[in-house]
Amino acid sequence: MMWRPRVGLLGGTFDPIHNGHIAAARAAQQALALDVVRFIPSARPPHRAGSPRASEYHRLEMIRVAVADAATSDDQVRWEVSDLELRRDGLSYTYDTLSALHAEGLSALQIFFIIGADAFSEIATWYRYPEVLDFVNFAVVARPGMTNDMLRNLLPSLAERLAGLSQIAQSTEPRVVLIDANTPDVSSTDIRHRAARGESLTGLVPSPIAAYIAHHLLYRDAPDAPTAPRPFGPPDAPVGK
Ligand code: ATP
Ligand code: MG
Repeated sequence: MMWRPRVGLLGGTFDPIHNGHIAAARAAQQALALDVVRFIPSARPPHRAGSPRASEYHRLEMIRVAVADAATSDDQVRWEVSDLELRRDGLSYTYDTLSALHAEGLSALQIFFIIGADAFSEIATWYRYPEVLDFVNFAVVARPGMTNDMLRNLLPSLAERLAGLSQIAQSTEPRVVLIDANTPDVSSTDIRHRAARGESLTGLVPSPIAAYIAHHLLYRDAPDAPTAPRPFGPPDAPVGK
């Protein structure tokens, strides 16, 4: 079979990006010998109550800063940022993203959608499951609280799609690969709570991200309080007239 560059796609809300995301990208890159990892922030994640706390602008910018920071200390890092989902209207379904990539005829690439085990454990509730698994490979990275063994027990129907690292190269069908990794026990939810209390984020996010959050006063208001509904139309449109 012809050599095809291996591309990892890491989707998420990234509200904000943190050391767990960076570790998951590294673990997938190493396990699968990925040539590039592309971060794809979600505009409107379908499974969340309320909107992301930081604007699309800040979430995207923080990923850019973190990717540039990672590249300064590791020349193996070839990471990119994609605004594909931010440019699309409506809810950000992974199905739409992966089917669009498929329609673009990206078969010259071997694509892996990287996802944490906690998020993957809910795959059966996703829009257009199980077809969403039919476009590209999924690389599931263990996360503290959700090991790959727990996943296997939770999702027995996936057994036929699971493949070992050595089988992936031969497979012509998209597969699910489980990657055992010890990523740090960090979550964006915890970071938002700490930022709201004015606590240090050292060790949880790359240092330029801690500086960015402090500089732009992000996540200062009550964490995860419902956000006011945005008026329909341009931001400055008079409401109720
Ligand atoms: P939130 O608390 O807001 O849900 P989060 O920390 O889970 O934030 P997301 O943006 O939801 O971050 O995660 C994007 C992707 O990265 C998901 O697939 C998630 O499972 C994965 N991920 C996040 N943190 C880790 C981690 N520490 N280890 C492995 N995967 C992770
Ligand atoms: Mg999450």
